[in-house]
Amino acid sequence: MGGPNGGDGGNGGNAYIVGDPSLNTLLHLKFNSTIYVERGKHGKGKEMRGGNGADDIIKVPLGTLVRQRNPDGTSKFIADITDETPCLIAQGGRGGWGNTRFTTSTNQEPLLSQKGEAGEYVVLLLELKLLADVGLLAKPNAGKSTLISRCSAAQPRIASYPFTTVEPVLGVVGTRNKSFVMMEVPGLIEGAHEGVGLGDQFLRHAERTRIYIHMLDGLSEDPIADYHMVNEELRQFNPALAEKPQIIAVNKVDVTEVRARQEELEKEVLAAVELGKPTPATLGKGPAPWETKPSPIFFISAATGEGIDALLGHVIELLDKTIAAESQIAAEAEAEPVGLEFRRSRRTTRPNTFHKDNGVYVIESEQLERLTAMADTRDYRVVLQIWREMTRLGLSRTLEEAGIEAGDTIRIGRAEMEWF
Ligand code: GDP
Ligand code: MG
Repeated sequence: MGGPNGGDGGNGGNAYIVGDPSLNTLLHLKFNSTIYVERGKHGKGKEMRGGNGADDIIKVPLGTLVRQRNPDGTSKFIADITDETPCLIAQGGRGGWGNTRFTTSTNQEPLLSQKGEAGEYVVLLLELKLLADVGLLAKPNAGKSTLISRCSAAQPRIASYPFTTVEPVLGVVGTRNKSFVMMEVPGLIEGAHEGVGLGDQFLRHAERTRIYIHMLDGLSEDPIADYHMVNEELRQFNPALAEKPQIIAVNKVDVTEVRARQEELEKEVLAAVELGKPTPATLGKGPAPWETKPSPIFFISAATGEGIDALLGHVIELLDKTIAAESQIAAEAEAEPVGLEFRRSRRTTRPNTFHKDNGVYVIESEQLERLTAMADTRDYRVVLQIWREMTRLGLSRTLEEAGIEAGDTIRIGRAEMEWF
């Protein structure tokens, strides 16, 4: 005829974020942005433990930056999702203890049980910055989508008016037994950096490419003005972007007009590149990769394929150099593990304290609050058992030292009881 014998509650599930290469946007989370992870099941009689809540896996595209919003409105970096390793973002609460945990040699009728710990509540800010090796820059209508569809399996919409491409198009380009990811950066028009034509949304993606193919429309009225405009938008958005290596390709050379102007255009473009070259003051350490050997200007036709192979050969060469330079920089700088701190359990139990509110001793103790939440504090025996817990936690002594007397009221969570 023992006392109550409820088992422990199960732990709440955890929430993880994991990269999924098949996703390209965060749209699936836009209308589904509040995620409740399953709670642990209640413990049952006969010491049966409740099951744990199932974990929640939140899938995001590779290249998603995860930040956590702090209550004061600032945010802190959590993780950069670049692969399929799950990243713990919120921990479920531990299940509460069932009655049997409160059985002692002198207390064979444990009336206490513990409410499960609350799960973590986090507000996350997700930002997608696609990862690609090569960014394809040009003002609208230059032929970016046409080039991507010609040298990869991507099938972007192509049309002879601006703004057809509404989201960045990624394509995997294979050449010379190697492959790289090329990304069209749409919407590069004047004012893009401040949001004209959603340009800033697209420029964010341009931040994470290693090099650029800067494409010029050979049919444009003024390809040189276009070239300066695009570079200026890059610089205004983020000066670091303007310093990345660029390979220049003039498109639509299949058109007679363009071919007729080829020599003249080449000179003009070379002069413009010389003019726009970052000076040592604006550059970081060492020469930019394209300064070691002047990059030729490529004349291509995305429509017929002319000149594309030579262009891609040069892209691979420059990409290899850039990657080698990057890994050297990474090796030199002490690799700082990011997000590790976060992956550890961050649980800390608040210290058990109290304060006085209108003569009432208000106990601040997560552990005790979890006990009283489940207990019937009108039952004298329950109060006695809570008092034992308070003694175990050292709180009784603290209260006595603070001058508490029999008959005074104490409050734990929403429960009030009399001190004795
Ligand atoms: P985007 O805005 O830079 O992505 O440009 P698109 O790839 O959508 O091309 C815009 C227009 O230029 C379309 O009508 C294409 O057919 C045309 N176009 C693209 N590349 C070439 C080319 O090499 N030669 C010619 N003649 N037209 C092209
Ligand atoms: Mg396009």
